[in-house]
Amino acid sequence: MQRTATEEQQDELQLQRDAEARAARYISSVAEMPVFPDAAARRQLARFDEPLPDGKGSAKNTLALLDEAGSPATTVSNGPRYFGFVIGATLPVAAAAQRLASAWDQCASSQKNSPVADKIEKVAAKWLLEILDLPRESGVAFGTSATASTLVCLSVARRELLGKRGWDFDSMGLQGAPEIKVVVSELAHITVLKALRILGFGQTRLIKAPVDSDGRIDPARLPALDAQTILCLQAGEVNTGSFDPFLPLIERAKKAGAWVHVDGAFGLWARAAPAKRGLTSGIEGADSWITDGHKWLNTPYDGAASICRDRDAMAAAMNSDAVYSTASTESQKNLGIEFSRSARGVPIWAVLRTLGRAGVAELIERHCSMAARIAKALPDLGFELLCEPALNQVLFRYGTEAQTRELQQLVERSGKAWFGGTVWNGEPALRISVSSWRTSDQDIDILLNTLQAARDNLDRRSQ
Ligand SMILES: *Cc1c(COP(=O)(O)O)cnc(C)c1O
Repeated sequence: MQRTATEEQQDELQLQRDAEARAARYISSVAEMPVFPDAAARRQLARFDEPLPDGKGSAKNTLALLDEAGSPATTVSNGPRYFGFVIGATLPVAAAAQRLASAWDQCASSQKNSPVADKIEKVAAKWLLEILDLPRESGVAFGTSATASTLVCLSVARRELLGKRGWDFDSMGLQGAPEIKVVVSELAHITVLKALRILGFGQTRLIKAPVDSDGRIDPARLPALDAQTILCLQAGEVNTGSFDPFLPLIERAKKAGAWVHVDGAFGLWARAAPAKRGLTSGIEGADSWITDGHKWLNTPYDGAASICRDRDAMAAAMNSDAVYSTASTESQKNLGIEFSRSARGVPIWAVLRTLGRAGVAELIERHCSMAARIAKALPDLGFELLCEPALNQVLFRYGTEAQTRELQQLVERSGKAWFGGTVWNGEPALRISVSSWRTSDQDIDILLNTLQAARDNLDRRSQ
């Protein structure tokens, strides 16, 4: 029997409402769910091991499976007590804006493809430069991740430096090109190394800049720079949250004619918070920066931005209008990697519009205060604090290597909170990162109580 258009529309709306109701149920339970899914929930994932269906199934049933087997097996990073990495939750307005934009299903390549996406992303780009106080003439591409955004910035950097040597990168590529040197922090994020590797900068040829005990590049030991060098700096080291000393480093780089790129995946947001802004002094002197929305700004995945001071250089490198024609610097497809793309700037716009400068500053400063509170409490509970937190990261350990690992396991199994392990100075350590807008002071109480209980448990066993 043929279904009528109205019947099909009814079904579609019903399905949307069903999804909405399930999402609402999920959101209202994030404070109670085990933060890391327990073994029973993980076993239910076997329900997805079905053969590829031959024929048509039911959309309603597909959604039901997704929710019933899927939701309980989530890591509750959209909750208040997930302290792993710098994951961040999703602010309600960001989730809501994303939902509406997904109904639009825009291909946000250019104004021609989507006038609305083009407009909103232009506003989002302008606001991003204002709140991060970066050169207002910069080009901004909203991409999938800090990793992909790094790829964009570093490819622009290389093409420009080669261009200055008279090398036409677009026509000649890399075969026989003059060598471009790359200087990176000893503690550069793995994704910066990955982007460099993908671009063909061999890992053994990278020049490592030594860092001090807090993980900042030491200006006194900065390797030599020249006009054929890309210097990669960092705003927010993942373990300590520390910032490279931008002022002296960028001054040296500018004198040498080098290109300076800054990885500010989460740390760049310190610039939007008066109490932490000092950490970023001089950062505006760099040539390119990346940051994530999906971490500290609490927007959904995949939301990140690459920012290049020289917008024309960015558009020339990322040009997808036509090779050798001048690219419009107006279109996202000419500033970032993707051609067909979703309007990733929309949730970022929605958060900036709703929180405003004051709200973003408050979010960042609140998380930093919570991290400071945790850092202050840990030594009294018998934990070893490994450095004073610069930002929202707390690095610590407990007793031996084995005890440190076991402590993480005990907290994970409690279901009350989650944080991950890391390696610091060659030894296992633990890292708590405060980055969810949902985290309250009571959640920090629960975290500290959970840590204390886990410690007591370990102590009893070792007696
Ligand atoms: C998370 C992170 C990255 C990578 O970001 P993605 O968005 O996951 O690609 C890069 N650098 C730092 C410092 C990070 O914390």
